Amino acid sequence: MPAFSTALIAWQKQHGRHDLPWQNTSDAYRIWVSEIMLQQTQVAAVKSYYLKFMQRFPQVQSLADAPLEEVLALWSGLGYYSRARNLHRAAKIVVQQYGGKFPEDPLLIEQLPGIGRSTAAAIAVFAYGVKAAILDGNVKRVLSRTHAIEGYPASPATQKQLWTLAESLLPPQEIQAYTQGLMDLGATICVRLNPKCLLCPLHSHCQAYKQGRVSHFPTPKPRRALPVRYATVWILRAEQGVWLESRPPTGIWGGLLSLPQTEGHWQAGQALPEFPSLPGQVVDPQLLPSFTHTFTHFKLQIQPVLTSLQQPFTVKAAEALGRFILPEEIATAPLPAPVKKVLLALLVTDCL
Ligand code: SF4
Repeated sequence: MPAFSTALIAWQKQHGRHDLPWQNTSDAYRIWVSEIMLQQTQVAAVKSYYLKFMQRFPQVQSLADAPLEEVLALWSGLGYYSRARNLHRAAKIVVQQYGGKFPEDPLLIEQLPGIGRSTAAAIAVFAYGVKAAILDGNVKRVLSRTHAIEGYPASPATQKQLWTLAESLLPPQEIQAYTQGLMDLGATICVRLNPKCLLCPLHSHCQAYKQGRVSHFPTPKPRRALPVRYATVWILRAEQGVWLESRPPTGIWGGLLSLPQTEGHWQAGQALPEFPSLPGQVVDPQLLPSFTHTFTHFKLQIQPVLTSLQQPFTVKAAEALGRFILPEEIATAPLPAPVKKVLLALLVTDCL
């Protein structure tokens, strides 16, 4: 038997969990209900629900015969109610198609509503001693660490790699102690944060531990690349100061004063835009270095352009839409941080 599984089985027998309400049975129905309840809920929360559920529906037949409302009522508080609806549907199928006895083949079990590959394998292992691999969240974490598997475990490529590994590690005997050992190790020792490696029966086999990279595995979910938008902000200088517009109350930088903004990056030689907030001719545009500001849902690449307003121009009509601020007001004005940064940099270099 491979040293990995030998160590895990020995540990499970001595230190694993043996007294959970759904253990010490080979009744596929009871094992199935517990596996479904444990899918998104912690053991401590599941226990009382499981006992009540079993008292009311002791066999698959009683669950199949019950009205869905009653099943949902007993599930109330566990959350993810599709699990209860699928249990009810699957119970009817087991009764009608299989005469009330769960199939033994994990591939057939997996056809039932709400049962994935790992849950089907767990039922087949614990009910019938079938040699099949499980790969729930805890097991993915354990195997990612013991074999230093790079890649987000839910990604198709990494998932495939983990399934192949999980199957290659299956012991020739004692599949139940081995499977329970993997579950117990993930739940009590090889936990997500601060795993107890010194107490772990696998630490002499664990690549992550040997490499001192335990916290590196499993690879976290890749962050989605944020979309990039482009904008030009216009620094309109006049004797009265720098022209700032009032931003609409909602949306980005809502309610703040900011530089007039146009979509896209303005290029030298292009026509200059008109600024409805400030009728007046803009002259001498100079491109300043662009920079990126990150919002929650996108990145804004900002191209600042330094310009002057040709005198004379009319401010009065535009007063409600914005105002001039003097260079000495910039530090305390209600400006978005990146805009303030640009203006303060210009102030330091005497460009305002
Ligand atoms: S040595 Fe640490 S990281 Fe490796 S399997 Fe054990 S608990 Fe997990």
